[in-house]
Amino acid sequence: MGYATTNPYTGEVVATFPTATSEEIDAAIARADSAFQDWKTTPVRDRAGLLQKAADLLRGDSRRYAEILTLEMGKLIGEAEAEVELSAAMFEYYARASEQLLAPRYLPVRGLGDTDAALVDEPMGVIFTVEPWNFPYYQIVRTLAPQLAAGNVVLLKHASNVPQSAAAIEELMRRAGAPEGLFTNIYASHEASEQILADPRVRGVALTGSEEAGASIASIAARNLKKSTLELGGADAFIVLEDADVEKAARWAVIGRHWNGGQVCVNSKRLIVVDAVYDRFLEAYKKGVAALAAGDPMDPATTLAPLSSQKAADDLARLVLRAAEEGVTVEEIGAPVPERGAFVRPTLLTDIPLGSDTAKTEFFGPVTQLYRAVDEDDAVRIANASPFGLGGSVFSNDVARAQRVARRLDTGMVYINQPTGVKADLPFGGVKRSGYGHELTDLGLKEFVNEKLVVVR
Ligand code: NDP
Repeated sequence: MGYATTNPYTGEVVATFPTATSEEIDAAIARADSAFQDWKTTPVRDRAGLLQKAADLLRGDSRRYAEILTLEMGKLIGEAEAEVELSAAMFEYYARASEQLLAPRYLPVRGLGDTDAALVDEPMGVIFTVEPWNFPYYQIVRTLAPQLAAGNVVLLKHASNVPQSAAAIEELMRRAGAPEGLFTNIYASHEASEQILADPRVRGVALTGSEEAGASIASIAARNLKKSTLELGGADAFIVLEDADVEKAARWAVIGRHWNGGQVCVNSKRLIVVDAVYDRFLEAYKKGVAALAAGDPMDPATTLAPLSSQKAADDLARLVLRAAEEGVTVEEIGAPVPERGAFVRPTLLTDIPLGSDTAKTEFFGPVTQLYRAVDEDDAVRIANASPFGLGGSVFSNDVARAQRVARRLDTGMVYINQPTGVKADLPFGGVKRSGYGHELTDLGLKEFVNEKLVVVR
């Protein structure tokens, strides 16, 4: 499919963009490699200055940047503004922290002096990133900021439905003073990944997206002996124990399941509630979901966004149909959603057999899986039955108990008494079919560096 902006609220195709040719891609790699030769020796303080400038420019024009997001993938304008701020905060985090994070690490070795054995971080070169449409800026910046801070340069293949968001970040970096080739947006086809990853100047790839895309990119990278990091899907468990504040948990569950139109890898997709409070929770949850108002995502009064495209809405509807065929109880909640636009009416799935396809599926939209657990042990069992292992939540008024439950979950992240979050200064990453590697903080910064050992004798 070609690159195009299609407004998911109106269905109107706003603009189309030509796919890059093989010659254009080769020229982009050459420019990136040339930029790398200077950037790798640019002092970290100067790299930080560029990142801070990008943060300032984003904040200075946040409404314009936010409107591009809402136009292209339909997120609520308030959430779009929050994404712009989050992206600015990530640039700023690396502007502030990189010098310290990239300082040499001295290793205590018997028979050597304190500074005789050191690990120094050296950049690797051109890093390829393949990113999805659900957070069109944040997904770019969470790779771009740490990679530029580390001294690498970045080539982007963004999702084909957010071409203007990709161009906006490219223009932002130019305005911030980035030299040509430091960050390049390419409207690349899927097939172009072969050419890009086979090129010796490209040294690694970071992908966020579906399992299929991840498996494809990682196998091409492996064939070329290049490192990959994968941030894939998730089906976060949201466990409510009997000693939780049930009304508060239900309010959080409504937000955790529906923010960003329900299209977040760390949405609270599987609500697991112990029997003792199940009925009370269900009543409060349904009331909260029924109060969501679908409409124009540019209107601040709207609280339920359309999905990112009509195709995404159709795919989700098909998965709900399959759930019904598996014997799962399907219940629509709240008022019907508008006919026009890529809307899906909030839907509740119950009586889900653990081994079923439904239980293993990530529903990327306002479809909730709800499980009744006998007790804490049963809740942990249900939570860990998922093929995914990204985030998760535990609700309990006994924080020490919730922390113990958190340690039993097979995931990369657990939040207590709130849905899994995203913050500029906390790492992000999962296990199992949610992928491998980390984003953000020092963990993301070090994914594509050569931690070189230098020993003095
Ligand atoms: P995709 O994985 O298809 O898209 C993500 C990115 O990968 C896009 O840039 C896409 O490009 C690219 N891509 C896909 N396949 C290939 C390939 N073979 N070679 C190179 N690049 C590729 O996600 P979808 O938009 O189709 O969403 C499907 C599902 O993925 C969702 O339902 C959800 O489960 C999961 N997902 C998870 C996300 C997360 O945040 N973890 C984000 C988005 C999706 P193009 O747009 O050109 O196809």
